[in-house]
Amino acid sequence: MTSTTPKFKKPLVWLGIFAHPDDETTSSSGTMIKWVKSNNQAYIITCTRGEEGSLGTGNMKIKREDLGKVREAELRRNLNLFGVNPPYIFDYRDQDLNKENPDILAKKILQILKKLAPDLIITFGPSGISNHSDHIATHKATLLAYKYYKSNTSMNPILIYPSIPEDRAKQFDLELSEDEKKSDIVVDIQDTFETKILGLKNYKSQKDAQEIAKRFLEHQFNYETFALSPINTLDNHSLNIIEYLKSL
Ligand SMILES: [Zn+2]
Repeated sequence: MTSTTPKFKKPLVWLGIFAHPDDETTSSSGTMIKWVKSNNQAYIITCTRGEEGSLGTGNMKIKREDLGKVREAELRRNLNLFGVNPPYIFDYRDQDLNKENPDILAKKILQILKKLAPDLIITFGPSGISNHSDHIATHKATLLAYKYYKSNTSMNPILIYPSIPEDRAKQFDLELSEDEKKSDIVVDIQDTFETKILGLKNYKSQKDAQEIAKRFLEHQFNYETFALSPINTLDNHSLNIIEYLKSL
């Protein structure tokens, strides 16, 4: 940390809002761990338990009806490893999130915003990175919750999306919105990269997570990038949070 690092009343509060156990680890855990290690707090909302995911890797054979419990346990174990608080889990079924009225989902998120008063909110951008319907539904409901929250409070948390620079997006065959290609905030995660990879591997039920761990390792993706949502109205506090993230 440098002497120019902005001073805050700590702990600052991070809130990640995602669709499935593992989204938080893939998208932003390197930065989230650094945040927590700097004496801040972090929380995660997971809208589903990912019941439609793969049924194990290696010799594992998980029954479909048990997968939600297994993935919830994987999530809890990882958050504990990262120093993050236990998750808020909504009881939606994996791949059903877009069947919910966005306003109802937004009101559930809003309750937690009011309770935690986060300084930073991270959720998927418009494409949800993978165009998964649950990711996109999470994005829409979070934006709505953010609007409701801001209309009723003087708090001004920043809202950011995990982003992927264009060359990396091409490597992974991703079709992103323009917003999600912007690297407004770049965080060097060399110090926490190993823990992030371990976190991905801990999702032993999930083939995708294993594959991503392999690719991140192969390419040594030891930085994370984020885009500021256009919904932000930046004030001094939010600009300081942005500078703080860059300084982590
Ligand atoms: Zn997901």
